[in-house]
Amino acid sequence: MIHIRSAGEVEKISQACQIVRDTLFLMEEMVEPGVSTLELDREAEKFIRSKGAEPGFKGLYGFPATLCISIEDEVVHGIPTDRKLTEGEIVSIDVGSYIHGFYGDHAKSFAVGSVSTEKKELMEVTKACLDAGIQQVKPGNRIGDISAAVQSKAESHGYGVVRELVGHGIGTKLHEEPQIPNFGEAGKGPKIQAGMCFAIEPMINMGTPDVFTKKDGWTVCTNDGKPSAHFEHTITVTETGSRILTI
Ligand code: MG
Repeated sequence: MIHIRSAGEVEKISQACQIVRDTLFLMEEMVEPGVSTLELDREAEKFIRSKGAEPGFKGLYGFPATLCISIEDEVVHGIPTDRKLTEGEIVSIDVGSYIHGFYGDHAKSFAVGSVSTEKKELMEVTKACLDAGIQQVKPGNRIGDISAAVQSKAESHGYGVVRELVGHGIGTKLHEEPQIPNFGEAGKGPKIQAGMCFAIEPMINMGTPDVFTKKDGWTVCTNDGKPSAHFEHTITVTETGSRILTI
């Protein structure tokens, strides 16, 4: 079942979303060569709790941290450690928060210092994929319209679209129906209605779409070792289109 949220419920999701938005603004200031992913995680947790919210991922399905931090060929779900970021890497940070019974979910990829043109382009296109998906969100369209828009944008640049992980509905649970794949056919899937809330999150690989999970049971990596980028917004469907809650 896909929930239709009342204005009051959307307001609560929006509060959770503003906290994760501000968490990533803080992370953007902190991302630089020499900072460890554990330091980022600690500051993010401190910040989220200072706003009266709880980290949305910590403890969920057994995930041990506040942030998912995925470096270079790591696609998503990287676990923070004492590993330090180095110049020229790209790092994807995904964060959730939970407040007043509702979740917000948001992710961005960042450059550590200066990165290659190829990596810069990968990040720009992944963000453009997210924008293209969001543009398809309006009452009467279908989930497949979002999926097809993301896929065609990514593949027009020769990139690989991860199949194993998808976007999702969001509300009182972090992951609700519907699933929102980053690949698919326009005109297919559930009909979009005002009041639905989605986390749309393209995970785009510079090379092959194929991925595997590391022995830690969490970290998803590209099979060919090439970098991956990840951008995610939580949005709500309005009468005429959508409103991004994480900006
Ligand atoms: Mg998500």
